[in-house]
Amino acid sequence: MSEPKKIVTRFAPSPTGFLHIGGARTALFNWAFARHHGGSFLLRIEDTDRARSTQAAIDAILDGMHWLGLDADEPPSFQHAQAARHVEVAEQLLADGHAYKCFCTAEEVEAMRETARLANQPLRYDGTWRDRNPSEAAPEAPFVIRFKAPQTGETIIQDAIQGEVTFANAQFDDLILLRSDGSPTYMLSVVVDDYDMGVTHVIRGDDHLTNAGRQAQIYTALNWPLPVFAHMSLIHGSDGAKLSKRHGALGVDAYRDMGYLPEAMRNYLARLGWSHGDEEVFSTAQLVDWFSLDAVGKAPARFDIEKLDYVNAQHLNQAEDADLTAQTLALDADLVPFAAQLEAAMPLLKERASRLGDLVADAAFLKAKRPISVDEKLAKHLQDDNLAHLSALQTQLEALQNWSLEPIEACIKAYMEAKELKMGKLAPAFRAALVGNSQSPGIFDVLALLGRDEALGRIKDKIG
Ligand code: GLU
Repeated sequence: MSEPKKIVTRFAPSPTGFLHIGGARTALFNWAFARHHGGSFLLRIEDTDRARSTQAAIDAILDGMHWLGLDADEPPSFQHAQAARHVEVAEQLLADGHAYKCFCTAEEVEAMRETARLANQPLRYDGTWRDRNPSEAAPEAPFVIRFKAPQTGETIIQDAIQGEVTFANAQFDDLILLRSDGSPTYMLSVVVDDYDMGVTHVIRGDDHLTNAGRQAQIYTALNWPLPVFAHMSLIHGSDGAKLSKRHGALGVDAYRDMGYLPEAMRNYLARLGWSHGDEEVFSTAQLVDWFSLDAVGKAPARFDIEKLDYVNAQHLNQAEDADLTAQTLALDADLVPFAAQLEAAMPLLKERASRLGDLVADAAFLKAKRPISVDEKLAKHLQDDNLAHLSALQTQLEALQNWSLEPIEACIKAYMEAKELKMGKLAPAFRAALVGNSQSPGIFDVLALLGRDEALGRIKDKIG
């Protein structure tokens, strides 16, 4: 029995803009599929459009993939660098009678375009040079090389997501393989590169489905085996319309800046089109274990930022305290002197957080400077009898042998019981004195986390 063929997938972005959510999902599916099968995941930068490709976009793609943990198994390849190979294949197609030189002038092609426009038809090359002898052209006349596409019959693709897709060959005209300046077109380059890189599965957005029909014809003309095609439905916004910036379709870097964890992004992006039973929250190891193209749905997935927040909150809750502490310190250097308290607070902070920024905000009480400035809303609780209670409790708390959560809580509760006070009355006063606003864990925890001197000092500042 022959060895099963090694699975090779690729992500092939055009570096003309940032790495957006759709691109990130395409990369993830290719990565997960390769990982599941012990194959390779490759990155090909499709930089053939020289005018629109930028180094900044290449960097954004590499950064975004790295942050998402989707590094390719080999250094990226650059499509433009393979141009000579693409020309060689175009010439082979020409020599084999699967392509021909077309000498139509720009005016002639424009006239075809105009005719098509008037008839309300898509632009089609009319085949003027398909069967003509190139010797009929003026010497030195510029030409393009066109693919001699089959004109009758059907091209059929067994798409791993869309099922069997049939294209009537009559719908395809003879596409350009090499432009008059000798540069290869995308349709040729993508076929040659996928073949040369040994790509076994082409997983991408269904905006490329028709291209797959055209590409399949080129594979067939070259006598190359077809890869498995798998075309995912595009992502829509929560209102069902095609995803746009308005829906939160930003670059991956924006999600990093908003405080989402890469593992949560992988989890959420995987659920945009793929599912495993009812599982909503899962680890990357589970994703790799479970991933299959059979479980990718045909219906467009809806991007929902609230669901992303939910998934992120779950992953924050499961993350290691030390790791989250480091990430929080990276976001707010002012917390560095309080690193130990921050880590001690992390089990509480992460339970309340949806994004990393929430950890920073909820930890701000640690670094607040005495005397604590108090929100207008809370200031009213620092009056009259509340101040007397705080003062009495300050004395009792000072006497505690052991400054930790349980004795602190027991001390305050005993006092309230004796005085027949409700927590709702005293808690805002403590909060005002210790934090100054409503953003922090509960006040017993805040007291314990601040430490005896700082906590009692903050109270003392307020009772005068
Ligand atoms: N470069 C193409 C794009 O960014 C993708 C080509 C492909 O995946 O075959 O849309």
